[in-house]
Parts: sequence; C-alpha cells; structure tokens
Amino acid sequence: MKNNFKKIYKIDEIVHDPKVTFMRVCKGQTMFDQNPLFIPGPTNIPDRLRQAMDVQTRDHRSPDFVDLMVPVQTGVKEVFGTESARILFFPASGTGGWEAAIANTLSAGDKVLMARNGVFSHRWIDLCQRHGLEVQVIECIWGNGVPADRIEAALAADVEKQIKAVLITHNETATGVRSDIAAIRGALDNASHPALLFVDCVSSLASMPFLMDAWGVDIAVAGSQKGFMLATGMAILAVSEKALDAMEQARLPRTFFDFKDMIKANDAGCYPYTPPMNLITGLQESLKMLGEEGLDNVYARHFRLAEGVRRAVAAWGLELVASSPDLYSDTVSAIMTPRGFDSNLLTQHAFSGYGVSFGVGLGELNGKVFRIGHLGSLTDVMVLSGLATIEMAMADLDYPVELGCGVAAAQSYFRQSRIGADRLAA
Ligand SMILES: *Cc1c(COP(=O)(O)O)cnc(C)c1O
Repeated sequence: MKNNFKKIYKIDEIVHDPKVTFMRVCKGQTMFDQNPLFIPGPTNIPDRLRQAMDVQTRDHRSPDFVDLMVPVQTGVKEVFGTESARILFFPASGTGGWEAAIANTLSAGDKVLMARNGVFSHRWIDLCQRHGLEVQVIECIWGNGVPADRIEAALAADVEKQIKAVLITHNETATGVRSDIAAIRGALDNASHPALLFVDCVSSLASMPFLMDAWGVDIAVAGSQKGFMLATGMAILAVSEKALDAMEQARLPRTFFDFKDMIKANDAGCYPYTPPMNLITGLQESLKMLGEEGLDNVYARHFRLAEGVRRAVAAWGLELVASSPDLYSDTVSAIMTPRGFDSNLLTQHAFSGYGVSFGVGLGELNGKVFRIGHLGSLTDVMVLSGLATIEMAMADLDYPVELGCGVAAAQSYFRQSRIGADRLAA
C-alpha cells in the first residue's frame, strides 16, 4: 500500500489498476463524505437540519430564551402522542435519558420489572442494577418481543405491589423488534397493578407511531440523533403527572438529571445550566420538517423503506432476527448471515471497500448478524444504494446471494407502492 502512494501512475494504470481504483474509492470517501449511513442511529442529518444547528452563541439567560424553548417543548408533545406530559431536555445521549427516568422516580432497593430481548434492553437493565434497583428480569429469546402475558403474570404474582415500575424497550435496535406497548399497558391494567410504565422509544420515536397518553406511558425516553435526524447530545423525555408525583418519594441520588431543578428553571423561562442551544434550534426545525411531511406520512415512509429492505432480505434467501412479521421494526432490520459467514467481515468490507456503514451484530448476535438502519432522513433511492452496496460486499465475500436480486425485489416494491403508482398503471 505504502509503495503505491510513491509510485507515479500513468493515466491508464490509474483507471484500470484495481488496487489504485480501490485507493481512489477510499480517498473518495473522505473527499466527498456523501454516502448515507445505514446504521440505526445516529442517522443521516439533512442539510436543512445541519444549518439549523449551526447557530452563533446565544445567551440562555436572555428574556427571549423561553420563546425558543417552550414552543419546541410543546411541539414535541404531538410526536410523543401526549397532551398532558411534561417535556424535559437534558444534554445527554439516550443513555442519560434512561438514568434520568429512574433516578427521579425510584429509590435504592426498589423492585422493577424488565424484559431482556437484546442489547439495548440489557443495557437499561444493567443501568438499573448499578443504581441499586432490584430488577426482576424476564428473559426472552432475542428476536422475540416483550411478552405481555409474562409481564401480566409477574404483576399478578406481585400481590404486595412491590414492583414500582415496568421498563420496556419499544424498539429493540439490536434485533429489529418492535414490542407492543398497548399490550403491556393491558397487562398492567389486567393485573390491576399500580406500577409506573417507562418506555425507551429512542429508536422508534418520530419514525413509528408512539401514543404515550393512549398507552398510559409514564416516562418516554427519546434522543436527538435518531428519528429527529439531529446530532447526538440531547435526551428528550416526556413525563406523566404520575411519574412527577413519584418523584416526591424517590430517593435515588440525582443532581445533573434532577427533574425538579429542570422544571423549576423551565417554569421561570430558564435552564438549570447551559442548554444545548444548537440541538434545541435543530429540534425546532426538525419538528417543522416532520410537520410538513405529516407524521402519518413519516410513519408510512418508514414502513415502505423497511418493507423494501425486507423484500430484499427475502430475495437474498436470508432471515431476519425478528421472529414474526408483527414484530418487524420499521427503523432497523437485523439480518442473519448464512452459517459460516462472519458478519463483522461483511460490515468491515462494506466500509473499507465501498465507504458505507451498516450496523454490526451486537452482544450475542455479534459476528452472526448485520443490521440495516432505515430511519430518519432516507428515500427509496438512498435505500436502494444501501442494498446495492451490501449486495456487492456479499458478492465480494462469496455469499450465496445472486448479485442484484435484493435490489430488484426492493425496486419492484418501491415502484408498486409509490404514491400515484395506481394512477400511472391505469
Ligand atoms: C440508540 C438507542 C439508545 C440510546 O443510546 P445512546 O447511545 O446513549 O444515545 C437507547 N435505546 C435504544 C433502543 C437505542 O436504539
């Protein structure tokens, strides 16, 4: 490689020598940096949002700070599907949002009920255990959803009502599985259990329907870098009245993430410390974009893109980790590689050979699964480019996959389901 840089190439060598072409592709990545990402967050940032985040320093103690923040907090409620929840912004990634949710509402030794069906739910369990909570874990096969019947049975068995909260990951990003939050609410109701319901919707909010009020969710945790298409750095929480009441008895230590400090400052038109101003202005613009497209259209687009990917996966003869269609996530597909093929080599090759990132297999799925993220700022054409790329990478690594078949399956689906396709066909 080193020698190649020193060698002076003649023009036809540059065009035809595959080694040089490879180098040029790699250099092209850094020169143009234009290939979309196919990881399930952080997501591609549309130019409009990059510009919205490019703001000069603004005084957060000025009287007009409130004019910026309050409408953004109000606007975000629609995306959460809530009218009554309190919206709070913390400068943190989604993990900080998990911590804020429990630190403000629970005490050391409190019992909570959680399901483990992938790496993200596992990490939230770990965070709760490290805070001294007693976690009753419902172990699930990775690829399954959170089982409402087992949640209900666990709650019904808790006659002394010791379980203080049920914590669920709406969209398990490691496996591409969406769980049914309405059914979990049903489980709480059927067991007449007063536990709080906390939901991680980091990789579903603003991409798939979320109905906080209808589902009786007490805290919903989201982040700036997935469906909202912004840079990472702001945890976005929606908190119910019931969760705010629980705060009074909750003894877990909290300082940076204290809801009370945040609410008190927000109510006075301020922030308890320096706010992530660029992410608030970014979110203001993101809400405008989502509003212009219409949330229902945003969800429909995510379904279409996901379905195109699923058609490609079927055409490749590969299988999703998600065990049944009702569980399919519209934001990420986790795909099993054929036996004997290391998925890490595939994602590495797609990156080094073509300059495109795909999600790796996480936890027990490492080496066995690659993931295609299809959320946020994406179109049919972008998704086709991702499918074409991973097909090339699979062909390079001698996967038993026919080059072009996945792209063709997605193309057919996108043509059929395109808006106005019925009119064109007539
Ligand atoms: C991305 C993600 C998070 C948050 O991760 P951070 O890296 O802390 O932002 C949490 N839960 C799920 C399901 C996610 O996909």
